[in-house]
Amino acid sequence: MEDRLARACARAGRRPEDVLLLAVTKVFPAESILEAYALGLRDFGENYVQEFEGKYPLVSGLAGARFHLIGHLQSNKSRKAAELFTHFHTVDSAKLARRLDEAATGEKQVLIEVKLSSEQAKHGCDPADLPALVDAIAACPKLRLTGLMTMPPWDEDAETARPYFARLRELAAAFGLPHLSMGMSNDLEVAIEEGSTIVRVGTALFGKRQKPQ
Ligand SMILES: *Cc1c(COP(=O)(O)O)cnc(C)c1O
Repeated sequence: MEDRLARACARAGRRPEDVLLLAVTKVFPAESILEAYALGLRDFGENYVQEFEGKYPLVSGLAGARFHLIGHLQSNKSRKAAELFTHFHTVDSAKLARRLDEAATGEKQVLIEVKLSSEQAKHGCDPADLPALVDAIAACPKLRLTGLMTMPPWDEDAETARPYFARLRELAAAFGLPHLSMGMSNDLEVAIEEGSTIVRVGTALFGKRQKPQ
């Protein structure tokens, strides 16, 4: 994986240290997190609050490990989520931002999930609503907005994702946001060419998941 990232960065003329490898451990047991940590990974992405709650006691002591929520968050789960995670990639409404801010005890780094096509899952902020959401997050004292996240419609051909990644980069630039959470196992090369700073990788690190996601 490190090789693949290094090659992708070299081809795109990017520095490898500017692209964070976020290890997506959903569906895999806490042991997978421990193994990846032993290999040097420090950033872990989980999709479900409840699932990670079960693993958390086994991994909460890992020094320097950061846990990112990358799945949709229902605002009624924000209190629990605020206990477990420090980074949130899927803030998509002012209501959720406020709930998270109220629940947080310390600073939380957040990214806005942007919905760039009608085929995408129903979550994510419409680009037209971004200015209002950026303002709403700015008004939350414990939230620090660092970037944007998107998930293009699934396609075997990674090139299909390129226009979505390019659009996310333009939007982030328009708001002066440094981070772009985009690119997964199948399309991380394209995402890195389009400026990704955080690639979220599950399958390419841990193998196929049992249940589809
Ligand atoms: C599952 C998931 C990933 C990882 O996908 P892979 O194709 O296994 O690399 C990345 N981001 C999100 C939001 C996911 O749900």
